[in-house]
Amino acid sequence: MTSSRTFSSPLSSASPVAGLPLLCLQNVGKTYFTSAGPFVALENINLEVAAGEFVCIIGHSGCGKSTLINMVAGFSTPTSGSIALKGQPITSPGPDRMMVFQHYSLLPWLTAFENIYLVVDQVYPNKSRREKREIVQEHLELVGLAEAAHKRPKQLSGGMKQRVAIARALAVRPQVLLLDEPFGALDAITKEDLQDELLAIWRDHRCTVLMITHDIDEALYLSDRVVMMTNGPAAHIGEILTIPFERPRIRSRIMEMPEFYELRNRALDFLYRRFAHRED
Ligand code: ADP
Ligand code: MG
Repeated sequence: MTSSRTFSSPLSSASPVAGLPLLCLQNVGKTYFTSAGPFVALENINLEVAAGEFVCIIGHSGCGKSTLINMVAGFSTPTSGSIALKGQPITSPGPDRMMVFQHYSLLPWLTAFENIYLVVDQVYPNKSRREKREIVQEHLELVGLAEAAHKRPKQLSGGMKQRVAIARALAVRPQVLLLDEPFGALDAITKEDLQDELLAIWRDHRCTVLMITHDIDEALYLSDRVVMMTNGPAAHIGEILTIPFERPRIRSRIMEMPEFYELRNRALDFLYRRFAHRED
């Protein structure tokens, strides 16, 4: 068996490394059985994500992005096909795949520190209280929130709450960090700050990121590949863009590059011409 945390691909890797991908989705489909009959949300999704890759998924609202990431998290199971992490089928949630949601998912009666401690305590029952407290402290510092450790969610801004959620997800060292529109509810400046923090954390922790966003610029700035989904029902992957920008990325420099606008136009063309959203 290989070590449980091998991140052999270079961070600038734009495509899966040779050999076993970290995450492998094969012919994945999801049908919801509703009172109105079966609803095919996703069909025939094939995607491989290499260790250390940063992959964004974009697509119109309702196309099935959350359905997809929830299956990777193990919150629900595919109705066809398979999803595997290092060759092992995903059947339930686990600390190797931690999720950050758009809507702040902190327990309101616990402080920032306690929200993170709760998860660390669950995942590392054999560590001492001191060790667990150190892990929490370290991760609060990582997201610049050491000072806010004893504040409750209602005393924190939206950006701070998302920082706590990211710290909580990273505190148990997941192999894959899953983010479902994590910055969707934040103002533009806070959003840019958090994007840069996320990139720095990803570079230092060398984790693998699968992130959903409906913000094309965010996807192009952050990721190695942008997976573009067709509209539902029976949504699937329409096209994958490989993002060539070197890392570390400097936002102002990328925004000046003609390649950025070429990729942006390709994504806009995909989303607003080839797969324009039907509002019915
Ligand atoms: P997205 O995250 O891209 O906005 P979702 O994955 O939330 O899309 O939803 C995809 C489609 O599946 C939508 O049409 C939605 O109404 C439907 N859907 C999602 N969850 C359920 C469910 N539990 N039961 C029935 N239909 C669902
Ligand atoms: Mg969603």
